[in-house]
Amino acid sequence: ETTPAPNFIRNQLREEIEGGQVTNIVTRFPPEPNGFLHIGHAKSICLNFGLAEQLGGQCHLRFDDTNPAKEEQAYIDAIKADVQWLGFKWAGEVRYASDYFEQLYAWAQHLIREGKAYVDDLSPDEIREYRGTLTAPGKPSPYRERSVDENLALLEKMRLGEFGEGEKVLRAKIDMASPNINLRDPILYRIRHAHHHQTGDQWKIYPSYDFTHGQSDAIEGVTHSICTLEFEDHRPLYEWFLNNLPVPCKPRQIEFARLNLNYTLTSKRKLKLLVDEGIVDGWDDPRMPTISGMRRRGYTPASIRKFCEMIGVTRADGGLVDIAMLTHAIRSDLEDNAPRAMCVLDPLKVVLTNVDEGFEEVYEVPGHPAREDMPLRKVPFTRELYIERDDFMEDAPKKFFRLAPGKEVRLRNSYVIRCDEVIKDAAGEIIELRCSVDFDTLGKNPEGRKVKGVIHWVSAAHGVPMEVRLYDNLFMVEQPDRDKDADFLEHLNPASLSVCQAIGEPSLAGAESEARYQFERVGYFCADRHASTPEKLVFNRTVGLKDSWAK
Ligand code: ATP
Ligand code: MG
Ligand code: MG
Repeated sequence: ETTPAPNFIRNQLREEIEGGQVTNIVTRFPPEPNGFLHIGHAKSICLNFGLAEQLGGQCHLRFDDTNPAKEEQAYIDAIKADVQWLGFKWAGEVRYASDYFEQLYAWAQHLIREGKAYVDDLSPDEIREYRGTLTAPGKPSPYRERSVDENLALLEKMRLGEFGEGEKVLRAKIDMASPNINLRDPILYRIRHAHHHQTGDQWKIYPSYDFTHGQSDAIEGVTHSICTLEFEDHRPLYEWFLNNLPVPCKPRQIEFARLNLNYTLTSKRKLKLLVDEGIVDGWDDPRMPTISGMRRRGYTPASIRKFCEMIGVTRADGGLVDIAMLTHAIRSDLEDNAPRAMCVLDPLKVVLTNVDEGFEEVYEVPGHPAREDMPLRKVPFTRELYIERDDFMEDAPKKFFRLAPGKEVRLRNSYVIRCDEVIKDAAGEIIELRCSVDFDTLGKNPEGRKVKGVIHWVSAAHGVPMEVRLYDNLFMVEQPDRDKDADFLEHLNPASLSVCQAIGEPSLAGAESEARYQFERVGYFCADRHASTPEKLVFNRTVGLKDSWAK
């Protein structure tokens, strides 16, 4: 078993609880509903909800919905479903930053009255120019000294929609010479004549992320506001609002390093492009690193939670986590919990010439080698079978221990057979093998010779036809978006999906959607949530059998 990786936030919170600085931990997970959640978000979810679970606190689900142009109800629904599927429960109702628009507006007026905010008429380009750079201080806007009354009146008109988008903004009056650019009079409100999924057409101005986030935390009584490192430079501003507004409490912001995974994009914007361009079959395409894509691929909630525990939580940025660690987590879960079955992905017919037509024998074999709680499977054996095409070689090298002309192999759970004849069609393609059975080999070694190879097989008369989708990495390079100027689409893997018409053993008949199996010798598979029905099975390959993660 793997030892838990360090989680500095959990350690810190434990100390605060033991030291009595905090009694009831309140965290929140604050997605913007502008796309589906991905594996990076899973890290944040497991951290925030996990802390509440492990330390006896509570975690809120709050939609950070201040940018209506990019947000949609469909994303809200998908995000809620993903969090629930991962097995977490948010405290109380789902919350929305937009629930607090009225309060935030009152707090904006408060800042104006205190001489700490002003309406600015500069254009977005001018604001950028006036803001200065890391090496040059900014300069004050000519509108910075407007009177309180004028500012209050202008803000009210902004709210009512009396100005066009971009004509005015509300800014905090902090310090145009601050070495931290976030403090150079940050924008509090922008004009947006947009319809909002929660508040409708009520608002013509929308608060910025910075003006919304900390105050929403304070309204909800959040004790620890945990976010990724790119917000470290925003922390002084987060605190400035809490210190300059009559908020009910003062949450603390703690930053951690975001998850970056090799061969994987963790940017909603780029994932959305894959969806919009039709490169994948939607947000939950099994190749997508979205939580819903991973679910469709066959990942379990436990495996994702295990992975998030394994990677730990630190402030060390820049590292790439090996995707082999993620596949290790699902593989070891399925190794322990998925029933076994035989399935031939690329069928080659075998006729057993010394078995009578109509002959039938049924083996009862374990559902799982180590799980007696799983029901036995009934595996029928008949004259005609299918084996995997690449388990046969016409000109086999010495070390090939599977089937070849004149050679023997064991059928898993059954007899040893010998290949006597290879049948080809007019084009020279092998279409059938004629083999004979050694009936003295069921459950015992053949007399006087060693047969090393064991192959899987399915009775032709009883096999269940199914579609099997083999997935591979979407990208061929470890960091598809490493070069900021290049198009990450150039690194797409053209072989990320291949489809086969497979034949599975009868125990697979009627498999429920999302049922997971190990197809022996082949890999782990999951019945597709959308496409598979008990009558017409479609299986997705979750992951292969071989573990390449070096512990
Ligand atoms: P965007 O800013 O493009 O909308 P985002 O990834 O910041 O994308 P949010 O919805 O704002 O998306 O993220 C919700 C929470 O998930 C935030 O607290 C964010 O810090 C966290 N998060 C996002 N990506 C990662 C990641 N790769 N690793 C860890 N946490 C992440
Ligand atoms: Mg965001
Ligand atoms: Mg974000």
